[in-house]
Amino acid sequence: MLIAQATLSKVMGNVKSVSLNRFSFWGDLVHLVFPEACISCSKELAFSEKSICSICISELSETNFHLSKDPTAIDQLFWGRFDIHKAYSYLFFEKGKSSQHVLFSLKYKDNPAIGEYFGAKIANRISTMSEFNDIDALIPAPLHPKKAFLRGYNQSEALAKGIGETLNITVDITSVIRAKHGSTQTKKSRFQRWDNVQSTFKTKKSILNYNHIVLVDDVITTGSTLESIAQSIRLTHPKVKISIVTLAIS
Ligand SMILES: [Zn+2]
Repeated sequence: MLIAQATLSKVMGNVKSVSLNRFSFWGDLVHLVFPEACISCSKELAFSEKSICSICISELSETNFHLSKDPTAIDQLFWGRFDIHKAYSYLFFEKGKSSQHVLFSLKYKDNPAIGEYFGAKIANRISTMSEFNDIDALIPAPLHPKKAFLRGYNQSEALAKGIGETLNITVDITSVIRAKHGSTQTKKSRFQRWDNVQSTFKTKKSILNYNHIVLVDDVITTGSTLESIAQSIRLTHPKVKISIVTLAIS
């Protein structure tokens, strides 16, 4: 009986390894027929590369804000405006370079995998920062449901997912919602933008479950949208600690 069981488990083991080999065989075949292209330079990716090639990765300029003992450019962005516990960005946004292609692909090319990929990179960095060691929830900057529907997904949510999965932290997409369809921000002054987002976000009582939340967004420019989200959250939960994490700072 024992021998029979041992033989059976050996056979099953073989079956398992055969089917695994078969999977990688099909994976390789699919790659040969439909090779994945780098989201930045469009060159064909090697078998070991995912979404972005190693050359484009080497061209990204990382902020290294996680190594700074002093407040960084993103912390200073909120000075005199809003009490942010800690802020962090992974990359410097550079026009015409890899970082622009990464952000464009994340935002418009329906590519949540790239968000999750960079989310994991961010997680790796903030896990070394003591200011982020007590996070209760990650809150992606909400898109208007209509925009999310048209685009297929929320790029900030993809980033938050990557961070959350790596650090085992909840991603909360229901406590803060975008109530108004904000018009495009790019041609407005800082005050107009701030005024525009004032009535845009609504926070639910479920936010009271947290002591420290981290707002996640793809890119930070003036910080007015994130400031407005933070203000909306403080109206419901005045004592909550709010931090900010973005993929890039421009
Ligand atoms: Zn590339």
